[in-house]
Amino acid sequence: MAKFKKIKVPKEGQKITVVKNKLTVPDDPIIPFIEGDGIGPDIWRATKMVLDASVDKAYKGKKKIVWMEIFAGEKAVKVYGKNKWLPNETVDAIREYVVALKGPLTTPIGGGIRSLNVALRQKLDLFACVRPVKYYAGTPSPVKRPQDLDIVIFRENTEDVYAGIEFKARTKAANEIIEFINKGYKKNIREKSGIGIKPISKFGSMRLVKKAIEYAIENNRKSVTLVHKGNIMKFTEGAFKEWGYEVALKEFRDYIITEDELWDQVKGPDGVTPMTKPGAFKKLRGGKPAGNPGSRIVVKDRIADQMFQQLLLRPSEYDVVATPNLNGDYLSDAAAAQVGGLGMAPGSNISYFTGLFEATHGTAPKYAGMDKVNPGSLILSGVMMLRYLGWKEAADKIENSIKKTIRSKVVTYDLARQMKGAKKVKCSQFAKEIVKNMK
Ligand code: NAP
Repeated sequence: MAKFKKIKVPKEGQKITVVKNKLTVPDDPIIPFIEGDGIGPDIWRATKMVLDASVDKAYKGKKKIVWMEIFAGEKAVKVYGKNKWLPNETVDAIREYVVALKGPLTTPIGGGIRSLNVALRQKLDLFACVRPVKYYAGTPSPVKRPQDLDIVIFRENTEDVYAGIEFKARTKAANEIIEFINKGYKKNIREKSGIGIKPISKFGSMRLVKKAIEYAIENNRKSVTLVHKGNIMKFTEGAFKEWGYEVALKEFRDYIITEDELWDQVKGPDGVTPMTKPGAFKKLRGGKPAGNPGSRIVVKDRIADQMFQQLLLRPSEYDVVATPNLNGDYLSDAAAAQVGGLGMAPGSNISYFTGLFEATHGTAPKYAGMDKVNPGSLILSGVMMLRYLGWKEAADKIENSIKKTIRSKVVTYDLARQMKGAKKVKCSQFAKEIVKNMK
């Protein structure tokens, strides 16, 4: 066990472990949390109140989360000293305790770190950014039928133009690369251009798509859509699509059918096919048949620009989405806007087993300490975390209660300003209301 300098390991509680490729969760798991900067402490307090109440109500004392504070951002600087925005022991603690919850963090100016979130993703190899996007009745939305959107986006987190391989225009490196490509490969990059590199690997693409398909199997989802811009960027985005189909067919042949196969066999993507082998789904952890009994998960692909239209015009045709980094970034926020915005959008960054669950918005510094903002994003990230632990009953309780609370129009300022007849409450009051409505 790692010895920590500033992190106080609780006396009670046990570690979550990974045994034989399976997450093993004790009844009293120690879960590290990062409170976050700006509005972080407000939404963290509200979230803790709701999560603890749901576990208590669902398991009547038989299960309990034992929280362990770890530090990043401004609080880490206070605790560890100047420029210590992301202490090593914070990263070690997440690795060791496997599952953690995190509030938003200020992006430090100077100090050698581009973004704490990116640093955490890289250090822990959290290669999949997972964002479920679905509608909670009553939430103000700009579209007519927000309830038709219910997707889970798997965004690749480590590659693509986000890999951070960039060279400023007119620097030696940029000039050398331009010369190398223009001369060696007879291309015509304009001189004095800035250069960014877009690496997309077979390994990175396959592990992301694999994760998305496993999720679809375990959660009875109907389809996995590979979203790419391969018509233009053939050897990066196009390759992502090819490798996605390859891993789907190689590792999940008994569970999936491609959209093309479906058209060939049943002349329509209704999810039922003569190829189905009963029992095939039992092979994976907790796997159950997806959709109708006897049906397979449909693996299809869409070009990124048209996917934005599809989510607006035919949202119910999409379910799990797997996509490279940049597409995923744009798509996640656009989809979240469709169901009411970032205030209610949960997220997580996961590796093979490590899971860091986090609010998707930032620190909103102008509201810091005002007990004002919507804690929904962090609470729903906590719901994702509970599902990840297999604590479905507690997760359901929160989701049902949030639905009830929003329907009753007792909401924070961000939702209240868009709803007729709403009662505006503080962050902590919204959390209390969720606890009160919990059955
Ligand atoms: P932001 O903190 O997300 O805030 C932008 C606006 O979004 C707020 O002014 C507020 O809108 C609304 N908002 C955000 N969270 C809300 C909540 N919980 N409830 C209700 N409304 C909410 O974005 P930013 O101002 O661009 O970034 C501030 C800092 O956060 C920066 O240092 C940035 O780098 C960092 N950041 C961190 C993360 C992360 O840790 N994951 C993510 C993004 C940004 P109104 O003004 O309309 O009320």
